[in-house]
Amino acid sequence: MYFIRGYAKIFDMLKIYIYGEPILRKKAKPISVVGEEISGLLEQMLEAMYQGKGIGLAAPQVGQDLRLIVVDVGSGPLKLCNPKILKKHGSGCMEEGCLSLPDLIVNVRRAKKVEVEALNEHNQLIKIVADDLLARAIQHEIDHLEGKLLVDYLPWYKRWLAKRRLLKIRRNIN
Ligand code: ZN
Repeated sequence: MYFIRGYAKIFDMLKIYIYGEPILRKKAKPISVVGEEISGLLEQMLEAMYQGKGIGLAAPQVGQDLRLIVVDVGSGPLKLCNPKILKKHGSGCMEEGCLSLPDLIVNVRRAKKVEVEALNEHNQLIKIVADDLLARAIQHEIDHLEGKLLVDYLPWYKRWLAKRRLLKIRRNIN
């Protein structure tokens, strides 16, 4: 998820996949244990997210079929494995962007506050309560783990136009 317009780039370590890549539509697989390999991947994902000026990134966006997300809305990095929303409170609309969907801004209604359970990078089960932008970023990234993308929140005619444009962008990048 990001709020600054711009094309996703090819990074030294991790490539950010653009709309049209089948993995972005897959339901990602849960992690059994968070070991060195996973915590290394989480660190690389954070780096890719910062380079892309994003505030969140999910593993399928870097071609990994795993339930991992990283988020930083300015209050420090969060690395979550197998994140699960336990409770939602309130709702509100806000415009969102996505590193995998260049130049697309979509107004999305989401819960204002969420309670989330996840494994952290040390394989400990943690519970967090997030609100406002952090809650929104976490919900956006969890959508990715279900294969759900911002375009899905658009009415059908806008969705059709956006998909056509995104596939053209991907053709030009590849
Ligand atoms: Zn996204």
